[in-house]
Amino acid sequence: SVQLRNVTKRFGASTVLNDLNLEVGQGEKLVVIGPSGSGKSTLLRVLMTLEGIDRGSVSICGRELWSCDSTGAARQASARQTRTIRSDVGMVFQSFNLFPHLTALENVTEGPIRVLKMPKEKAVSLGKELLRRVGLEDRCDYYPARMSGGQQQRVAIARAMAMRPKILLFDEVTSALDPELVGEVLAVIRELTHQKELTVIMVTHQMSFAREIADRVCFFDHGRIVEEGEPYQFFSQPKSARTQAFLKSVL
Ligand code: ATP
Ligand code: MG
Repeated sequence: SVQLRNVTKRFGASTVLNDLNLEVGQGEKLVVIGPSGSGKSTLLRVLMTLEGIDRGSVSICGRELWSCDSTGAARQASARQTRTIRSDVGMVFQSFNLFPHLTALENVTEGPIRVLKMPKEKAVSLGKELLRRVGLEDRCDYYPARMSGGQQQRVAIARAMAMRPKILLFDEVTSALDPELVGEVLAVIRELTHQKELTVIMVTHQMSFAREIADRVCFFDHGRIVEEGEPYQFFSQPKSARTQAFLKSVL
């Protein structure tokens, strides 16, 4: 599970997360939507420990990544504790970010071998199994440059899963894809969301997909949650004028 309390994050003079409170339960599938620049990627990057915060506290699976003192100023956990916390979280990015000099299989096994210290044979069999699950068993030896965007993104998902995360973050993972390749990536994510214990936080512009997989949808604007709800009610009867205007612009 994930818990953010009164989280504020600034870049210079701009406040990107603004006194944000958010709780995501274990196994919950949360979809985050909102306009460009509202802080959605920053939220995920904080959970992935790629970005710090200024105020508030953040807990992941019951461990405090950031704690705050009585004035609200945030303090990060020790480097060691941070590494432990990070091992529970995986992230898939809009730009696939595969290692170009490694094959599909090597991209998937690199983390388990280097970080988890898994024996090579075990990592290879895990990698092959994961590539099979994303429909790429015949692409194990391909380098990223020789794969389509949809294939590369599916490798990126397999790579994230290879680290056995409890929480998986998706940041607009289909936005850089040609429209005909979106479906194959969404199909893989749909399959992953059937894992009951896996917590998923997904930023997406794919509203019909959001409606299908989300337990809860959050509308983000100016660094905070303006509205949230169960998907059917959220999309059919948005309460706030901001949400209504946003949905009108994207649906
Ligand atoms: P989009 O839908 O376009 O991806 P977003 O909701 O993901 O937008 P963020 O990427 O979180 O938005 O950015 C929120 C704000 O923070 C933006 O105004 C952005 O310019 C700013 N920002 C993000 N990263 C940095 C950075 N490293 N340095 C300075 N400003 C940043
Ligand atoms: Mg973003």
